[in-house]
Amino acid sequence: MLKLRDRPIRQKITLVIMMIASAVLLLAFAALFCFQAYTLKQHSAHELAVVGEITAHNCAAAVMFKDEDAAAQILGGLRTMPQIVSARLQLADQQQLAFFGTPRDETQIKAARLESGFRIDGDRILLAQPVMASGAREGTLYLLADLHATTSQLLKLYGGIFALVLVASLLVAFILSNQFLHLITTPILRLAGTARTIADHNDYSVRAAKVCGDEVGVLTDAFNQMLAQIQSQDTALRENENKLAQAQAIAHLGYWERDLITDRLMWSSETNRVFGLSPEEDVNNFARFQELIYPEDRDMVMQAIGVALRGGPRYEVEYRVVWPSGEVRFVYSQGDVILDEAGQPRRMFGTVQDVTERKLVDEVKRASKAKSEFLSRMSHELRTPLNAILGFGQLLERQKPTEVQRKRVGYILSAGKHLLDLINEVLDISRIEAGRMQLSLEPVCVADALEETLDLMRPLATERSIQLSASADIDAGVHVLADRQRFKQVLVNLLNNAVKYTPFFGGVAVSYHVPGNEKVRVLVSDTGPGIPAEKLARLFTPFERLGAEQSAIEGTGLGLALSQRLMDAMGGSIGVESAMGKGSTFWIELPLAKSPLERFPRDGTDNGARQPSSEPASRSILYIEDNLSNLALIEQMLAERPGTALLTSMQGKVGLDLARQHTPDLILLDLHLPDLPGWDVLSQLKADSTTRHIPVVVISADATKRQMNRLMSAGAAHYLTKPLDVNKFFQVLDETNGIDSAEQSPAAAISNGEVKEACPSP
Ligand code: ADP
Repeated sequence: MLKLRDRPIRQKITLVIMMIASAVLLLAFAALFCFQAYTLKQHSAHELAVVGEITAHNCAAAVMFKDEDAAAQILGGLRTMPQIVSARLQLADQQQLAFFGTPRDETQIKAARLESGFRIDGDRILLAQPVMASGAREGTLYLLADLHATTSQLLKLYGGIFALVLVASLLVAFILSNQFLHLITTPILRLAGTARTIADHNDYSVRAAKVCGDEVGVLTDAFNQMLAQIQSQDTALRENENKLAQAQAIAHLGYWERDLITDRLMWSSETNRVFGLSPEEDVNNFARFQELIYPEDRDMVMQAIGVALRGGPRYEVEYRVVWPSGEVRFVYSQGDVILDEAGQPRRMFGTVQDVTERKLVDEVKRASKAKSEFLSRMSHELRTPLNAILGFGQLLERQKPTEVQRKRVGYILSAGKHLLDLINEVLDISRIEAGRMQLSLEPVCVADALEETLDLMRPLATERSIQLSASADIDAGVHVLADRQRFKQVLVNLLNNAVKYTPFFGGVAVSYHVPGNEKVRVLVSDTGPGIPAEKLARLFTPFERLGAEQSAIEGTGLGLALSQRLMDAMGGSIGVESAMGKGSTFWIELPLAKSPLERFPRDGTDNGARQPSSEPASRSILYIEDNLSNLALIEQMLAERPGTALLTSMQGKVGLDLARQHTPDLILLDLHLPDLPGWDVLSQLKADSTTRHIPVVVISADATKRQMNRLMSAGAAHYLTKPLDVNKFFQVLDETNGIDSAEQSPAAAISNGEVKEACPSP
């Protein structure tokens, strides 16, 4: 049976109404009954007084004559009145003359000792009425009335009426409440219905209809407001859940949890994907998880779990999994252990991520780094013997050889230069592909760059009787955003090709225009043979010479491939238009740049400021180098300078000692020494007050800009790259003659025989 509080609200209200009606009726009837009982008593007392007075008057003669019979007769007449239960007539000396009633009544009358008047005791009223004769009190008449029967009758009557009225009023209350209660309950029931619908369907877009303006109406508004808030929170929550799921899918990151007591596993659908399982599959036990691990990695994973459970370091492990398709993937998992109150492991939870792609990228990066390191090492290894080949070749050339010898030396030098070009270009391409090419993008004046490259090309053009021209309207204000050196390198390559491939007496023209407001296009046109359309697609492929390898024209097939990569790296582009028999026009495009307000000198060359001394006086030079052929080369080169004393050391430490003992006028320093890196030797020379002032010229096969800048910043006076350009070497020798390094200009020179560049010292 339902408890009252669980009953429908309608029943509760009906019940309450009926209870209230009953209580009100009961109270009303009780008040009425009490009033009636009181009135009855008053009335009975008054009646008793009247009867007493008449009877006392009638008894006066009997009392006078002490006539018991007459007295008994008069009192007996009172028996007709049902409420009078006892009467006693006594003389003045209290002697009883007549009596009727029970002995209890007699005792009550006597005990009352009432002289005259009333005494009411519960339902009983005692009246004492003096009996007077001839003006004197001759006796007393006692009348005792009992109202109990009358009151009981009254109570029964009232009880009956009350019951009837109660039934009638409850009936009326029930009918009326049934009629009108729907006004209160319907809105509440509707609200309750709405709440149930929402709970059943989890649909927070439903709203309760407001049907009244009372408290239930206010409740409906508040309910709807609350629903709106829940709906917006629910939407935000769903969006966040979706985002989280998407993020997990993108990152291939899944969640897992393991109950250590039941050994049950619980994990997200993304974890299923990480393990190559369908989203529906429920991997709920640890044994199944173990099956998914690559067999060779299982022990490692179990060990990592064991260590974490024993309170060791956090669970963090990378292992392989085998997908049902057989594919092996790499995953990275981490997790934490949750302890119970007793400090025992209770649960483990964590994440697992598919890191296969990242591992592959790392592998590729590692391979690319290894490739770059290999190329850099190879280039160094190749440059060192080349240094000897080109150096001695140039020396031989200077020693007035016979015609035959000159030709042979020419072959050696041209083959050596070809090899050097090849090494430089391969190295540049590999640097760009490894993303290690360091470019310094700055506004570069196009007119200046063209002029400088045209100057470089003039000797070759003259040699081949090629007319080299630049368009007349070159504007000195036009700048492009480029790395000055690399921009010139590309221009040199295009001009060099144009001059090389154009037959004698042809023409090569350079021009540029600004097609939009964002780019500058530089064009190199020639009147050469042109390039067949079907070969154009292969023009920028490394080592692709498009048949030129069968001709006498020298080349590596790397120039255009490198130019294209350099242009890409600088945010530019390169292209060609060619017509067979008419010639080709190569073009490059670079972003237009604003002209800098102030133009700083772009290179550190000091043309004309300091004239090389023609014949140095007695001079000592220390050469620290571990390669014998290089030592021999420098020795022979210096033989051309009489009065120069050469000290040599094949080790860094010995070199430092020699420098301190002899304080030479110049130190030539190789960087790859067996005991100390050349960098350390330079630092120690610059830290020592005895040797600080001596200019140090670094001679190294490492032609990277970073290395050059590093050494120049550390105090080197010059940086010459191997293979040595003999002329450049002598030029540097002259420039450093009589110079105190401590007073040297902040713009020292770096040179690889082709390029000179400013390098501010710190
Ligand atoms: P190479 O060292 O052979 O000159 P490049 O990469 O600079 O290498 O050029 C690739 C090839 O493109 C050349 O071998 C040549 O066949 C062709 N080529 C380049 N420039 C011209 C040009 N101006 N006229 C004709 N052919 C050219």
